[in-house]
Amino acid sequence: NLETKLKLHSNDEIGSLSTAINELAVEVKSFRDNRREFFANISHELKTPITYLEGYAHILKEGLFNSQEEQSQYLRIIEDESKRLSRLVNDLFELSKLDEGKLQVDFEEVDLDEVLENVFNKVSLKAKDKGITLQFFPSENVSLIEGDGYRLEQIFINLIDNAIQYTVSGYVEVTITAAEERAIVKVKDTGIGIPTENIPYVFDRFYRVEKSRSRALGGSGLGLAIVKNLIELHHGDIDVNSEIDNGTTFTVSFPIIKR
Ligand code: ADP
Repeated sequence: NLETKLKLHSNDEIGSLSTAINELAVEVKSFRDNRREFFANISHELKTPITYLEGYAHILKEGLFNSQEEQSQYLRIIEDESKRLSRLVNDLFELSKLDEGKLQVDFEEVDLDEVLENVFNKVSLKAKDKGITLQFFPSENVSLIEGDGYRLEQIFINLIDNAIQYTVSGYVEVTITAAEERAIVKVKDTGIGIPTENIPYVFDRFYRVEKSRSRALGGSGLGLAIVKNLIELHHGDIDVNSEIDNGTTFTVSFPIIKR
């Protein structure tokens, strides 16, 4: 163990070398711990749907159901869990490409108003089904940025989908403004909110504020980790403000292209 072996502490060169090596050892350990935790998480996330798939496939194969409704219900579970697995594998694949800097991105001039307009068309049905009002206030053409349209849509589909997901009643509001050469998109909801002590972790991989509820809603806990990575790829920033029971606001900003 490097940490215990190098106990030298002085101001000379050997002392500072030992400090550097000690710091490195701590870093290596935390890297290993993170990796171990990451793989433990993956195994767990894969195991859960697989257990359901095996169980319900067995029940169906053996004819262990009492009615046609029961049979359809089990088939639906198999379908849902297969979708979850496929989403999880897809998310993991994207994260690994992001980590290696190998995610294919095609940068061009993009109007954020248009991106959000497209996203709106895709998420409005879900909001309608939940009886949540979805409102959009575009910037009226001051939001030209350098970006990949597809990836930008992915970012905002995730944020708005979460906003709808974690809101029981009320509204989700998306506003685009421009300030100090940056385009600012705010996704505000009147949902369940995030407890203050959990806020620093929401962008961590596999982090969920409430594990069982997020899982029941189909979440993998990877969405915001991917969102943050994609935003950084666009030289943007993301910030979150939240109050429990009152709602959450995610604020995203990107540098504007000068015209
Ligand atoms: P998930 O797939 O679980 O939604 P995310 O990475 O998208 O994973 O989000 C991580 C966690 O952050 C969620 O499980 C949820 O607890 C919390 N969260 C994200 N967005 C919101 C929101 N708009 N309101 C309340 N909680 C949220």
